[in-house]
Amino acid sequence: MKNEKTQTLVGLDEPELSALALELGHSAYRGRQVHHGIYRQRAAQLDLLSTLPGNFRGALQNAGYSVGLPAEEKKFVSTDGTIRYLLGFPDQQSVEAVWIPEGDGGEGDDPGRNFHRATICVSSQAGCAVDCRFCLTALMGLMRNLTAGEIVGQILAVLNDRQVALPQERINIVFMGMGEPFLNYDNFIKAVRILVNGVGFAESRMTVSTSGIVPRIYDLAQEPVRPRLAISLNAADDETRTRIMPINRKWDLGLLIEAARAFPLRNREYIFFEYVLLDGVNDGVNDARRLLDLVAGIRCKVNLIALNPGPGIEFATPGAGQVEVFQQILIKGGVPTYVRRPRGRDIFAACGQLKRTVA
Ligand code: SAH
Ligand code: SF4
Repeated sequence: MKNEKTQTLVGLDEPELSALALELGHSAYRGRQVHHGIYRQRAAQLDLLSTLPGNFRGALQNAGYSVGLPAEEKKFVSTDGTIRYLLGFPDQQSVEAVWIPEGDGGEGDDPGRNFHRATICVSSQAGCAVDCRFCLTALMGLMRNLTAGEIVGQILAVLNDRQVALPQERINIVFMGMGEPFLNYDNFIKAVRILVNGVGFAESRMTVSTSGIVPRIYDLAQEPVRPRLAISLNAADDETRTRIMPINRKWDLGLLIEAARAFPLRNREYIFFEYVLLDGVNDGVNDARRLLDLVAGIRCKVNLIALNPGPGIEFATPGAGQVEVFQQILIKGGVPTYVRRPRGRDIFAACGQLKRTVA
């Protein structure tokens, strides 16, 4: 059963690893050991799976298997401590993952001080087909979907970086890097299951963000294991939304909000609405009021993001005053609303800036 092609172990779940061990003439227990070794102990190479007997490791090698984490091709460290990784796969495709540490003090975190929490932002596709007008990833178009192993592999690769040291229970994962997770749904949800059952992340520490692929919102609602849901709303009327997010022609605000209303929330869970503010386009007082009406009755939080500019993006960033006015209208209307601080803008790591830029 010699296999010429390299196959990766990362991305296989426990039943698959047990079946592989049996196929190679060993007991299913060996498969469970691999599962524990690559996910829980984060062994990046076969030789680091030290609990395995040598002949089983040899059998895996002969069959063409490696752990198969993505290669760190480039790493950019921001003055605010954010780290952007360019991670490459054997077919020369690459994606970006971002480490976003946070201190206890909110504003003004800088490197060198103690970070207490962190978020890892991962990609679900190489590129994106959705074509939102304000997003740099859109300009790449879609290269391909990532496998479950490539999604999980990004997180393991980041956790393996020595510069990144925090206990796992203080780390959040957001599926908000390159790509639309709900257009790669099966691989995305398999990655979630491995992150929960294998790596040991709590579901409540993960959030998936969608541009509004409505049928998959209903699918997610049925999942026994699932992250929290964020919806990139970005406009409160169909005309504006269609202008900046052409996907709105397929699933308009009516359908999107209906799906959000039907989404079953767990104890103390909220839906997040993401809203990128574009100067003079969707940041007016009337937009804020319409947004309030739209989300009325949904247990939600709104995250406002002032546009992160980039080459080829035709919109401008609103001033801080305008953002504040918008936020206050929502808060006064009873919707908890936060302004996301841009992180890692100097290294092009902020929301919507992921485009494999080698800056
Ligand atoms: N494709 C998914 C997840 C990745 S995008 C989605 O669209 O939800 C993650 C977030 O970044 C989205 O909320 C998106 O609206 C936001 N974003 C995209 N481009 C941006 C930009 N230039 N500035 C600020 N936020 C941006
Ligand atoms: Fe794709 Fe999200 Fe960017 Fe839209 S905002 S183009 S869905 S990555």
